[in-house]
Amino acid sequence: MSERPIPSNVLYGPVPSRRLGFSLGVDIIPFKTCSMDCIYCQLGASAKTTVRRRNYVSARTVLAQIRKALASDRRIEAVTFSGSGEPTLNAGIGTIIRGIKRSTRIPVVVLTNSSCLTQPEARRELLRADIVVPSLDAATDAVFRKINRPHPGLTAAGIIAGLAAFRREFRGRIWLEIMLVRGVNDGPGHLKKLRAAAALIRPDRIQLNTVVRPPADRRARPLGRDELERIRDFFGEGAEIIADFKTLSQVPSPAAGDAEAGILAVAGRRPVTLADLSLSLGRPSAEIAALVDRLAAAGKIKAVPHNDAVYYETP
Ligand code: SF4
Repeated sequence: MSERPIPSNVLYGPVPSRRLGFSLGVDIIPFKTCSMDCIYCQLGASAKTTVRRRNYVSARTVLAQIRKALASDRRIEAVTFSGSGEPTLNAGIGTIIRGIKRSTRIPVVVLTNSSCLTQPEARRELLRADIVVPSLDAATDAVFRKINRPHPGLTAAGIIAGLAAFRREFRGRIWLEIMLVRGVNDGPGHLKKLRAAAALIRPDRIQLNTVVRPPADRRARPLGRDELERIRDFFGEGAEIIADFKTLSQVPSPAAGDAEAGILAVAGRRPVTLADLSLSLGRPSAEIAALVDRLAAAGKIKAVPHNDAVYYETP
């Protein structure tokens, strides 16, 4: 896959997040640049995985955009590194985090697939973050290869050791996310191994998720609510099912330019529902529905049914 350039605007949102409230997204990686190729990825398949860390975009450019967004009157409750790939593959992430911390008290959050936590230098760069949300979906190499389809240099044991080392070094909060996929990592034997790994890592929370958005591999199926509840009880104290962000309420943010462009920008990042778009853009749902219909008729957006809901994404 030829590498797509980073868009000149590295920010998106604020978007409603199930865990963080209204989150300003910071996307410092070219589209689908990742050390893994998870079957549940919302971004589609990775043609090639990489573990090479590079300065994909200058820290100065990113910080200028973040400071401008923070100075606006939009509702921002977290600044979150996430988006088009694995953010810790940007070698400048530590400089950017330190720069944000000098500008605001709003929590800085890093979503990561944990692969770079195997490297002491990358772990050091995350030490100034407030919350790190690392993923751990597999406790054995067989399941790791099936669900995360990682770069050949990565192993499940290496990831778990990196997470445990990070826990010893990091003073902020760690919310360990486990994505459960039916028939792939939800067997009782594997869940036992995951629980043992979590006991080593000692996260502040264990957040159980399942395939609620359209995945890269349409065969990746979600677990039901009852099954997730049983697994949460099995993991014990500190484990939770990530709440649905639709329950959050939003004070509409001021009109942010062209709503159609806003819809395309948000849906271009990940599949979203009409409710997501309405919350994200601070517009009434009827207005969003009419705009989405128009964009769909023009072939600029498409509907993807998944798990009893309809999501929208750009073709
Ligand atoms: S889900 Fe995250 S870690 Fe997995 S392939 Fe997609 S971007 Fe990479």
